Amino acid sequence: MSNEAAPLNFIEHIIEEDLKKGYKKDDLCFRFPPEPNGYLHIGHASSICLNFGLGEKYNAPVNLRFDDTNPAKEEQEFVDAIKRDVSWLGYKWATECYASDYFQQLYDWAVQMIKDGKAYVDSQTSEQIAEQKGTPNTPGKASPYRNRSVEENLELLEKMKNGETKEGEHVLRAKIDMESPNMLMRDPVMYRTLFKSHHRTGTDWKIFPMYDWTHGESDYIEQVSHSFCTLEFLPHRELYDWFLDQVVEEDKLRPKQREFARRNLSHTVVSKRKLAQLVAAGVVNGWDDPRMPTISGLRRRGYTPESIKNFADSIGVGKRENLIDVSHLEFNVREDLNKKAPRIMVVLDPVKLIIDNYPEGQTEMLEAENNQEDESAGTREVPFSKELLIEREDFKEEANRKFFRLTIGKEVRLKNAYIIKGESVVKDADGNITEIHCTYDPESKSGSGTEASLRKVKGTLHWVSAAHALPVEVRLYDRLFTDPSPDTNKEKDFMEFINPNSLEVITGYAEPSIKNAEPEDKFQFQRLGYFVVDKDTTRDNIVFNRTVPLRDSWAKLS
Ligand code: ATP
Ligand code: MG
Repeated sequence: MSNEAAPLNFIEHIIEEDLKKGYKKDDLCFRFPPEPNGYLHIGHASSICLNFGLGEKYNAPVNLRFDDTNPAKEEQEFVDAIKRDVSWLGYKWATECYASDYFQQLYDWAVQMIKDGKAYVDSQTSEQIAEQKGTPNTPGKASPYRNRSVEENLELLEKMKNGETKEGEHVLRAKIDMESPNMLMRDPVMYRTLFKSHHRTGTDWKIFPMYDWTHGESDYIEQVSHSFCTLEFLPHRELYDWFLDQVVEEDKLRPKQREFARRNLSHTVVSKRKLAQLVAAGVVNGWDDPRMPTISGLRRRGYTPESIKNFADSIGVGKRENLIDVSHLEFNVREDLNKKAPRIMVVLDPVKLIIDNYPEGQTEMLEAENNQEDESAGTREVPFSKELLIEREDFKEEANRKFFRLTIGKEVRLKNAYIIKGESVVKDADGNITEIHCTYDPESKSGSGTEASLRKVKGTLHWVSAAHALPVEVRLYDRLFTDPSPDTNKEKDFMEFINPNSLEVITGYAEPSIKNAEPEDKFQFQRLGYFVVDKDTTRDNIVFNRTVPLRDSWAKLS
């Protein structure tokens, strides 16, 4: 989005049109408005990148607005997590706002609407109100309370506000049009009573404003110029505008709502409510479980802010909903980590490799490049000795010509070390290989420049010195759901598509250079993938999460 030459998306076209029509650039103001009822997920990241991206592009303020009008579902923990996640993505909001800060203003406006004959207290049950709403093809019916006197309405609203009526006994409704073709215009509820403690206003308020009554008015109070929301709010736009009509003053900026398509990611669910279900059922270990599509889960999984922003920018904003394959997200993190992550050698499924002609008891420190993509990353030393560990799948006693790894009688290079030749194996009673024996060419050391070292061999293997290797806990993650879209067009509940094998915990053997690694440090385990140090790490147990394998193993299967 920072690229000036990039074609404008339809949201930017709307803004450019408005600027041509007389909006001042200084009037532009945007907001990101999460409800603090859960942690932000990758879908929110699209909305964050859109709004904050526009802020950067037009040098306009972007507010972080908590849409906190339902004390039954909202908590301070979620407010804190949302702030942490937006900051981590690298964005700064102009003002931290809360819809709850506008409760008095909203109330005052509601009182005025009653006086103007634009709102009334309805004392029916929610079932009765729903019945009278009609259907899209049949008009609704007026409530018997629709024509209450202004005095009675004012008195009742005040009582509701003070908690002097029963919870749910009355609601305040806008008086619009019970025959409107838009069902949302059929006298929508503005306030309901809720006797719950709110995370910010405590028990001060017993009435809470509904989303439609709150959102546009909050935009107006903050003088937000463009209020972008997802497509399901398209039919709400008429109501958004009607509510603004009741309060907007002439010399003030009038916000406009515009809609863009929700972003969905394959093999997961992007809905706070459903993610909360996964947490509550213990399918995952909390909102930041590395399998979760939450921003905090992706962070713990080893994603970088840049990889998430690049992902969001590359899919852009659209007018039609679609399902983005998770491999697209994985592609972005590989691209970014390839540039940034230092390389190390770790063996995940070890078998012992003994170099018969290497001196007993000798240890050599070999120089290894940290990142061949980035010279400034420097080098490190890796210990080499007679007994090594290599991956079990990197050896076959006999293999065809396409097997470029170790076999008996063939040569391969050990990364950063020497060329070796397979000689023999030792097996246990069941026929499993317990030791591979080889010989090495002492003249072939990597980087020594000798003729022997320049010799071409087909394969290069990673390894660790058995005596120096550090055992580490490695958590291998897979997709959380077996179905690409577990929550759409399905007869079964999304919980039935949970992948039972989404986590495998193994012990890996790492080169000792990582012994002081800290949580969130990221590495490429050479030939295996990208891994990040988990926060569960202790001094005696380093825990790694696999971010992604080096290649998309699912693409090969299909
Ligand atoms: P959820 O169902 O997960 O709670 P929501 O839309 O109710 O989602 P909010 O906290 O109200 O969540 O959303 C904050 C902003 O993020 C809104 O502007 C909303 O439109 C946007 N948003 C939420 N989910 C997505 C998504 N999948 N793709 C794009 N934008 C989204
Ligand atoms: Mg919501």
